[in-house]
Amino acid sequence: MFLDDVYNGFLAANKANEILETHGIPIGDISSIDKNLRLVLEKALNEEQILKDEALLLTKVSISEVSYLMAVSNYIRKKYKGDLITFSKNIFIPLTQLCRDQCSYCTFKIEPDEGDLLFEPERVLDSAKKAIELGCTELLFVSGDRPEIKYDVYRKKLNAMGYNSTADYMIAMSESCLEEGIFPHSNLGIANFDELERFKNSNPSMGLMLENVSERLMKPGEAHHKCPDKYPKARIKTISDAGELNIPWTSGILIGIGENWEERIDSIFELKRINDKYGHIQEIIIQNFSPKPGIKMEGHPVPTDLDMLKSVAISKIVMGQKMNIQVPPNLNSTTYMLHVFAGVNDLGGVSPLTIDYVNPESPWPQIDIMQKNISEFGFHLRERLPVYPNFLNKKFLNDNIYNKAIDFIDDTGYVREN
Ligand code: SF4
Repeated sequence: MFLDDVYNGFLAANKANEILETHGIPIGDISSIDKNLRLVLEKALNEEQILKDEALLLTKVSISEVSYLMAVSNYIRKKYKGDLITFSKNIFIPLTQLCRDQCSYCTFKIEPDEGDLLFEPERVLDSAKKAIELGCTELLFVSGDRPEIKYDVYRKKLNAMGYNSTADYMIAMSESCLEEGIFPHSNLGIANFDELERFKNSNPSMGLMLENVSERLMKPGEAHHKCPDKYPKARIKTISDAGELNIPWTSGILIGIGENWEERIDSIFELKRINDKYGHIQEIIIQNFSPKPGIKMEGHPVPTDLDMLKSVAISKIVMGQKMNIQVPPNLNSTTYMLHVFAGVNDLGGVSPLTIDYVNPESPWPQIDIMQKNISEFGFHLRERLPVYPNFLNKKFLNDNIYNKAIDFIDDTGYVREN
């Protein structure tokens, strides 16, 4: 009966009926739901941990059953996050677009003769100042993986500037930008323990996508062939080291890069395992593959809406109440509201100043349009810092960052609205 009540309540609130109909998702008769599916969904509603086989059963739901799954993940989201949807206002700085890897879906990477070797320090600081003027609180540093190992010309340039590695340079720029008054959130790629310890002095949070836990994707013909930094054990080590150091961490999975459902589920459970051990993962991004002209995977099919809804909903159910689940709104411009009804409560970094260099063809939504869309369905949009409110404490932040952070927030832990 509990599931039936939750389903009917789901359909009645926040105009769920309307959004399901708009996206062609059938409303079902919950009284005739498959018996095994009912058992798993009721277990999830009771917040008992579901097992891998049960998660695999959820991957099999059809378009006519997916609203049942959404009702459950939406219930868990609503119970713990209310009707609050968050985002951070950021600037995106690609510190270097050189990379030693060769991911088949990449449009970020360039060769040394195709553009600047790196974002020069003066440009970084100018950009940080402009972002501060526009009210951004997050400076997202992104780089390719360990290009100094592959490109002599880049390594020599770094050395001439006084740095031994991309990590050294990103740490130095993080420290300068934090002193300017904006919070760095660095996505270096694989980092070792010592590097992470140094990043922690200036970064309130950092990120590394797990992407997928499958080593199969590193074989010839697969998306991560010839990508030493996509070796899953190396990524798990970096995320775990960050856990040892209590660094609030953003991670997530990629959907549609050639992985199968079991590999997706294994990846979600691996993130859960790491977070159960360290408790430092603050958000999980469910990022859909987006093809672009000229990449190796140009003709590869994109994930369907059903794939994405199931990935979001299962992630919410497996990761549980506290976890923040995010989809990038620029890659899901017509469906991000639908994903809220599957368990999403965060829309990530949105920039008023810079493009998404990883997906340059997909512009950010304007914040006021996002606000309007969200409020039409009865939700409330709030800006957060790159670090979420429940990590804003001295277990996770050093005194310097903590004291700076509390100047920006109100007593809810979100950025002050005025
Ligand atoms: S690691 Fe990142 S930058 Fe490098 S090839 Fe892969 S997706 Fe591109």
